[in-house]
Amino acid sequence: METDKLEQLRKIVVRGAQEIYAKGLVEDGEGNVSVRVNSNEILVTPTSTKYDLLTPDLIVHMDLSGNVIGTGKIPSTEVKMHLAVYKDRPKVKCVIHNHSPYVSMLSILRKNIPIIMEQQLIFLGGEIRCTEITEAHTEEMGVSALNALGRNNAAILANHGAIVCGKSLDHVVRFAVILEKLAKVYWGALQIGEPLAIPEENLEEHEKMFTSLFASYPRRLRSS
Ligand SMILES: [Zn+2]
Repeated sequence: METDKLEQLRKIVVRGAQEIYAKGLVEDGEGNVSVRVNSNEILVTPTSTKYDLLTPDLIVHMDLSGNVIGTGKIPSTEVKMHLAVYKDRPKVKCVIHNHSPYVSMLSILRKNIPIIMEQQLIFLGGEIRCTEITEAHTEEMGVSALNALGRNNAAILANHGAIVCGKSLDHVVRFAVILEKLAKVYWGALQIGEPLAIPEENLEEHEKMFTSLFASYPRRLRSS
């Protein structure tokens, strides 16, 4: 039974990876997708993923301390950031990291995305913040990502790309697509003029939808 569940989850990781590849959010060799197996284990794409050639047996099984379970596989070097999110957020079932073009452009400007569209609040939780600059592939990047995430499901990684998390792979693929679209719209609007954020008083219902349907932040942040 346990083996069946693992096999299913391996296929889910492959599906997620192929979806973000098909949607143009990653190129070969970059980005990573992981899903939670249980309270102490995840499955994650291997280092330097070739998306067209990815198969369930190439997915890496590891514990939250970073130890690979089984042999012969090397996880993504960026897995430390995924592990930090899983350790901090028990509700999170999937994490995706990518270098999608428009998010990457904003990441170089270290720009936050103010709340410019309702769907941003419903699915991602609000203003999208950019992290402090940290070295990629380190634990510090995980800490910095958590700080920028706050109660949200998405953040921009300074001079790097995007991190998105949530309660299912389907949610998180959708969030990654929405984040890239928002970054593109914001970038475009900045070329024309000064984008205007949606006033707080127009957002109450959307915030309720986020909290009840999509939020993945830990309980301790609930009332802060
Ligand atoms: Zn990266």
